[in-house]
Amino acid sequence: MVPEDAPGNYSRSPSKPRRFLEFLRQTPMWPHIELRGDFGPVSRDDLLQAHTPAYVGAFLAGTQPLCASNGLRWSKEFRDSVLLTNGCLSAAIHAAVARPEQVTMAPVSGFHHAQPSRGSGFCTFSGQVIAALQLYRGQGLSGAWVDLDGHFGNSIEDSREFAPDLDRAIPPDMNLNPSGSHGAYLAHLERLLANLEALVTAGEVHYVAFAHGADSHEWDQLGSQCTTAEWLEASELVYGTLRRCGERLGRPVPVTLALFGGYRDDHPESVLGLHAMDLACGLNVLCDAGLNYEAEVRAPGWAEF
Ligand SMILES: [Zn+2]
Repeated sequence: MVPEDAPGNYSRSPSKPRRFLEFLRQTPMWPHIELRGDFGPVSRDDLLQAHTPAYVGAFLAGTQPLCASNGLRWSKEFRDSVLLTNGCLSAAIHAAVARPEQVTMAPVSGFHHAQPSRGSGFCTFSGQVIAALQLYRGQGLSGAWVDLDGHFGNSIEDSREFAPDLDRAIPPDMNLNPSGSHGAYLAHLERLLANLEALVTAGEVHYVAFAHGADSHEWDQLGSQCTTAEWLEASELVYGTLRRCGERLGRPVPVTLALFGGYRDDHPESVLGLHAMDLACGLNVLCDAGLNYEAEVRAPGWAEF
């Protein structure tokens, strides 16, 4: 689905969908997974819902410098993969809404720093915004994003002026990004989730997307927030909230997962292991999967010993 990482690109996210699926194949989660490939790339018109014609045109054609404003080397193959990752995210949220009894995942990244007129921080287009506008304009549905990447997801807030009905598609305060670290981070997350639970059970938010970026782990090269235990506690808090919401509503809340950041190059398996443990937690809490799965998350500097 996505080409190999280009030389000179810091982010390894472009190859993460492939590496993550290969990793999952070796875990007890694999029998619980149903792969779907019935989605296509986003169209120029889809992109124009959230981005300026100048930026969309530059990225599609490969016009410098705007086409590389995401910080990644442009190529036709990379462009095509970006259109597919955005299409994948939107298709996954639509699938979750259609079949809320399943946990749906788009194993992709590269959206939450994009702005209407340019890319930023390894992110090209605001896939979250594009998908949310499609669901609101097509089905009248409002959603929430729980963004536990280590970095603030600015795309949604930066797009509210560009697309005024985004305030209905993702209501204010429904782009959840806890701040602080360790205990303060978890306490802030709990407060944000209480607000989410109130809106979901009131019928004002109809689906939830959750990206547990692995760069909120303290050993990530770009992260600092959580120890492994705290990172997994954050997963428990999110999924526990979603389960309670479903119990109070009497039906499951549509849930879509995405990967987002995670940049360790000393031991990339630690990044994939965190994502896999998050998925196991979701399947256990939301689907009673009964998985007993623990991945290895190595301390930095392990190779020196
Ligand atoms: Zn990040």
